[in-house]
Amino acid sequence: MSKNKVVLLGTKGGPRMEKGLSWSTSSVIEVDGHPYIVDCGLGVTRQFVEAGYSLSQIDNIFITHHHSDHNLEFGPLIHTLWTSGTSDKVKVYGPKGTQNLLDGFLKSLEIDINVRIEDEKQRDLASIIHVAEISEGLVMEDERVKVSSLKVVHGLLENCFAFKFETEDKKVVFSGDTIYYPPLIEFSRDADLLIHEVMLERGIDVIAKRLSKVKPNLKEHLMISHTTAEDAARVAKDANVKHLAFNHLVPHIPKDFPNSEFVKAAKKVWDGKITAGYDLCEIDF
Ligand SMILES: [Zn+2]
Ligand SMILES: [Zn+2]
Repeated sequence: MSKNKVVLLGTKGGPRMEKGLSWSTSSVIEVDGHPYIVDCGLGVTRQFVEAGYSLSQIDNIFITHHHSDHNLEFGPLIHTLWTSGTSDKVKVYGPKGTQNLLDGFLKSLEIDINVRIEDEKQRDLASIIHVAEISEGLVMEDERVKVSSLKVVHGLLENCFAFKFETEDKKVVFSGDTIYYPPLIEFSRDADLLIHEVMLERGIDVIAKRLSKVKPNLKEHLMISHTTAEDAARVAKDANVKHLAFNHLVPHIPKDFPNSEFVKAAKKVWDGKITAGYDLCEIDF
C-alpha cells in the first residue's frame, strides 16, 4: 500500500497575482496511490503535474465554494485533461452553481471543442464530466474513501463547505474558506490531519491599506470571511487533531509575513503539531 498524503498545490488565499507568489488554493489528497483534487484555483493543472501526477489519473474533483481563487481553473483543468487523454469519467462535487460553472465553460469553448470532436474524433468533453451539486452530509464513497461535507460560514457567499475524507483508519479534514466556526470542531474530531485556512491579524491592516483604492471594503470582508491563526489553532486543539496544516494564507506577502509568523501566532493557543503550507509541500497522514 502506498503512503497516503496531501499535496498542497497552491497555498495563497485570494485572487491576486504577483511575481514570486504562490498559486491560489488547490490540493490533492492521495489515498492508496489515487489522487483526489480539492479546489481548482489558478495553477491547479500545472501544479498537479509538477507534483508528479498524470492528468489521466483524475476522476474526482471537489470544489469547496465558488470564489474564483478556488474555481477559476476548473474549466482549463477539465479541458486540458480531456485533450491530454483522460479516464472515462470525471465526477465533480461542488455547491450549487457547479453545473453552471461547467455549462458556461463548455459554452465559452464551443468552437474549440466542436472542431476537436470533428477533426480529431475526440469524445465530447461534456460526455465525460458529471457534476453532483452537494449539500451537507455524505458526498461520495468509493473503495478508498468516504467523503462528507459540513456547511461553513464565509462572508456573504452562500453554500461553502468543509470536506472530510475518511479512509479505513485515517481522517483528513479540509476547512475550506470559513470564519471561526465551532461546528467544525465536532466535524474534525480526532482527525489525523486538519488543513485549515488562515489569516494573520497583523497583516490585514497592511493589505487593506495597500488595496484601498480597488477594494475599499477589504478589511470588513476578511473579518467576516476568514479565521485567524489563533482561532484555527483553537479548532485543532478543541477537536484533538494530530496535525494542523495551514493553507490559503492571508495575507500572502512572504517578505513581510513569513510562514513562521503564522505558526508562531497559532502556537500561542496550541502547542500541537502545526505546519504552514507552501506550494507542493507534501504532508503524510
Ligand atoms: Zn479563498
Ligand atoms: Zn472564499
